[in-house]
Amino acid sequence: MSDCLFCKMVAGEITPEVVYETDLVLAFRDINPRAPTHILLIPKKHIPTLADMTDEDTQLMGELMQAAKTVAEKEDLADSGYRTVFNCKQDAGQEVYHIHMHLLGGRRLQWPPG
Ligand code: 5GP
Ligand code: ZN
Repeated sequence: MSDCLFCKMVAGEITPEVVYETDLVLAFRDINPRAPTHILLIPKKHIPTLADMTDEDTQLMGELMQAAKTVAEKEDLADSGYRTVFNCKQDAGQEVYHIHMHLLGGRRLQWPPG
């Protein structure tokens, strides 16, 4: 998708601060961090929202979760803990319509979210 911000990162047209990458997944620091560690994990494939995921994407999204676990370990969050979030569409405040998992940690997080 040529007009998608995160597809531009996958294509190398925009270079975020990448913390982890596989053939299928990219993880990079959020430009506006909401916690001491705030990383976004995306599939390189353009899927707009969680609601657009299909059976074909099951393995891919599993790899995304494995990547989150790996990144959390690399960021030294595995013991203290962290939160993973998918914002889906307007009521959740999704701004970028390329599916992404937020990984937040490094401080005590409130629950429930606002
Ligand atoms: P959403 O609200 O869609 O769940 O989250 C989108 C996230 O993308 C936000 O946390 C926002 O700060 C982040 N973001 C938006 N533009 C950029 C950018 O150009 N670079 C990076 N690294 N993050 C971005
Ligand atoms: Zn995209």
